[in-house]
Amino acid sequence: MQALTKMTKTIGKLAKIDQTTARSENIAFARCMIEVKVGQLFPHQVFFIDEKGQKQAVPISYEWSPIQCINCRGNRHVGGQCYREQGRLLEGLEA
Ligand SMILES: [Zn+2]
Repeated sequence: MQALTKMTKTIGKLAKIDQTTARSENIAFARCMIEVKVGQLFPHQVFFIDEKGQKQAVPISYEWSPIQCINCRGNRHVGGQCYREQGRLLEGLEA
């Protein structure tokens, strides 16, 4: 589980490991709960260096992640509904 702990550090703090994942020693699929910060990025892969010194990518999928705005990284709205972006556009029209 050390490898899983190290890999999840790039996303957030490992909070809980699925029982099936915790019992397995050589697994192709791991499931866990990670404590994250509001507004952070959610990478879809993490990398590690294997025993041969080669960089390996591990795909990440999320059962849930917040809806994030690409303009301001705020939550609960998407780019088209961004009040900050709309404010910038209005400032541009008034200038
Ligand atoms: Zn926004």
